[in-house]
Order: sequence, then structure tokens, then C-alpha cells
Amino acid sequence: MGENVNTIIEKISDGSSGFSGKEEEILRRAGNIIKSGGLVAFPTETVYGLGGDALNRESARRIYAAKGRPSDNPLIVHICRVQDLGEIAAEVPEEAVRIADAFWPGPLTMILKKADRVPGETTGGLDTVAVRFPSHPAARKLIQYGGGFIAAPSANLSGKPSPTEGRYVTEDMNGRINMILDGGAAGIGLESTIIDLTVTPPQILRPGYVTQMMLSRVLGEVDIDVTILDGSSAQAPRAPGMKYRHYAPRGDLVIVEGTSEHVAAYMNRKAAEDARAGERTGIIGTKETVGQYRADVVTCLGARKDQDSIARNLYSALRQMDDENVTKIYCECFTDRDFGQAIMNRLLKAAGHTVVRV
Ligand code: AMP
Ligand code: MG
Repeated sequence: MGENVNTIIEKISDGSSGFSGKEEEILRRAGNIIKSGGLVAFPTETVYGLGGDALNRESARRIYAAKGRPSDNPLIVHICRVQDLGEIAAEVPEEAVRIADAFWPGPLTMILKKADRVPGETTGGLDTVAVRFPSHPAARKLIQYGGGFIAAPSANLSGKPSPTEGRYVTEDMNGRINMILDGGAAGIGLESTIIDLTVTPPQILRPGYVTQMMLSRVLGEVDIDVTILDGSSAQAPRAPGMKYRHYAPRGDLVIVEGTSEHVAAYMNRKAAEDARAGERTGIIGTKETVGQYRADVVTCLGARKDQDSIARNLYSALRQMDDENVTKIYCECFTDRDFGQAIMNRLLKAAGHTVVRV
């Protein structure tokens, strides 16, 4: 789609108590844009998506162009009814039905063999398709009005953190797509869990809010792609998108691990040295510790124990560092248990796996 498109920006509520007549009208118009081959960015419960008709190869091409994304990186197809799974998957295994029952609508994407009607442009040339049924009311309405099958990657320019607020979508996509539905803050703040059901046992390709433990309660044994746990693995990640240097701020990001006293002493010393060398410095901390930090920009992700808050605020903290032209960033390290596996996966990617132990 390139640049210089007139982008309509519409504010809508989160829809938790239904949509007004005016909002319904906006969502219907947005659906018509999708059906006629255009692109609409919309809120979901994970991050904002950049949607086009999943069954239209031209729409997929436009999505790649708008994001500046390599076209071998497949898109997730969003549906609004479980029964539509059978329309885009060649077969629906029993495991798919079980996890759909347990986690849909919600932040879980499953990989299945694709049906012939899904164009290769949507799946990055793969014979599998990624499918998700999101829970966000605006996303569900848009999918319904847009024809039932919306291909949507995250609505950021390729290489930038996924947008968790409408204003970040506008920053990245204004002039490149037809419409932005600004529904405020996305709830979870990290992208969906991706599980591949075409292999035995099923394998997690990207950790997210739905954890390995939650999935194995429903499915029994569940593997995880080794490249997620081991950043130095020479193997290529199985979700093509995970191989790119995603989620990255422009400044150099270093994760600092250790006791809170050691971490604070180290970060403050490094930030002071960096400042003397002419750098602009930033520290990403938590409620318990931010008071101790000294840098040009200090930001807080929430209480250490509150994984939901850390996840929700992580990408906006990284974007804030870009907005404030910070060149050297230090961030605390978190547990990789439960939802922490997703948090640390994104943080390690953003830092290019640079971790200092103090
Ligand atoms: P995004 O929507 O921007 O979070 O990106 C979608 C993610 O899903 C990327 O990491 C893709 O590589 C991954 N993905 C989509 N379709 C498939 C598929 N058929 N097989 C494996 N990974 C996929
Ligand atoms: Mg993305």
C-alpha cells in the first residue's frame, strides 16, 4: 500500500458494555474497507493488529508493504466463530477443539494444515495456517463485518515494538493504511501464544499469556521450541517471525540481573559513565526500585510480582525510550516462570540477548 494513503482515525470504546449506534456504524464501515481489499488497524486483547481480508492475496501483499515486513513471514488469520476453523484448516484435529474450548476467544494462536482457499501470500508460502479467535469486542465485530477471516500481524512498522496503544499505531501507520480504530490500551500487551498442532507432541513456537502449564493441563505433553529458551541456539526458530530482530528499541538495551542493591548500583554507575560519554540514558525499573535510579529517563513497569502489569507496560516503555532519543537503556531482569516466559522472551529479543550479571 506504500505511503500517502488518507488514513481515517476513529476512536471507539473497548466495547465491554456494548457499542453505541455510532460505533456500530464505524465498525461496519471498517468491515466494508476490509471486504473491498483495504487495511484497518484494530485493538485486540494482546496488541493492535493490522487487518486485511485473509482470503484475498492482494490484501496480504498490502499488509507486508504497509509494515515494511518480509513476505516470508506468515500472518495470523483471525476468526470470530470456532466453527470457522474448519473453513481455513484442511483438517481440525481433536486437540484443536479441546484448546479452542479452553482458551477461545482469547490470546492463543494455533497452527494447522491450511485449506486450499487460504492463499500462500497469507501464510508466507507455508502449507500451514495460524488461526486465532480474539476476545476483544471490537476485534470480534470487525471480523464479523469484514467477512469472517482477517489476516493480521501486529500493527507496527517491522522491527518496532508491537503497538499497545492507538497512538503508537498512528505513529507507525498514519498515511499507510485506510483506517485506524483507536480503542485505547490493549489489555495484555504481549502477542498471543502460538502453538503448533501439526507436530506431536504439540509445540509452543511463541510464549504468551496462555502458558505451557495451562496448555499441558488440556493437551498433556507440550513441547517448546528450543530457540525460545536458548538464545544462543544455532537452530532457526520454527515461527518464521521469531527469527527477526523484533521488539527492539533504537537504543542499546542491556538487561541487568542480580540483587536489587547490586542492580541499582551497577545501572547508576553505568548511566553516569554513559552520560559523561555524551549518551542519553534510560532505566526501566519496577515500583520497588525506581526511586533509586538516576538516568535521563527512568520508567516503571509496575510491581515486580505483578506479571500482568510488567507485560502490559513493557512495549510502551521501550517506545518511550525511542521517543525520548535514549541511546543507552538498562532494564531489570524478571523471572521466566509462567507468564514470565513470554516477558523474558520479548525482553531478551529486544536486548539482542545482552544480559549482565552483577
Ligand atoms: P505477529 O502477528 O506480528 O505477531 O506475527 C505473527 C507470528 O506468527 C509470526 O512470528 C509468524 O512467524 C507466526 N506464524 C504465522 N503463521 C505461521 C505458521 N503457519 N507457522 C509458524 N508460524 C507462523
Ligand atoms: Mg509482530
